[in-house]
Amino acid sequence: MEAVDARGPYDDENIFAKILRGEIPSTKVYEDEWSYAFEDINPQAPTHVLVIPKGKYRSWVDFTESASAEEIAGFIRAVGAVARELGLEDDGYRLLVNAGKNAHQMVPHLHVHVFAGRPLGPMLA
Ligand code: C5P
Repeated sequence: MEAVDARGPYDDENIFAKILRGEIPSTKVYEDEWSYAFEDINPQAPTHVLVIPKGKYRSWVDFTESASAEEIAGFIRAVGAVARELGLEDDGYRLLVNAGKNAHQMVPHLHVHVFAGRPLGPMLA
């Protein structure tokens, strides 16, 4: 699979759009008005969850430029709620957003990775 160019128009047929529409199954871990979170299909840690906004945003820049302040706040709170509800606060967790080609963004719908469940080592650049 090729990394995506996260610029340009939103692709309604991207895989996370299909997950949001229920056309592709996913294992839900959290949902609210703004956000949906599900288990990554190819986990890189014992806990590997993806949190996505329900709105149609390709990337972090698209989201922060186009979404309302309410939606941005709602989404960021949802990421926190996932960490809290999964009980990740004691041992810790890592949040990651890949944006664009060099970061190897594979799906053109903004997603925050939540990794936890083992020592994650130093930050990789
Ligand atoms: O940040 P990036 O775009 O590279 O991450 C995409 C993530 O989406 C990968 O971790 C991949 O395993 C996950 N994925 C998924 N379910 C799919 C397709 C991809 O959880 N059906």
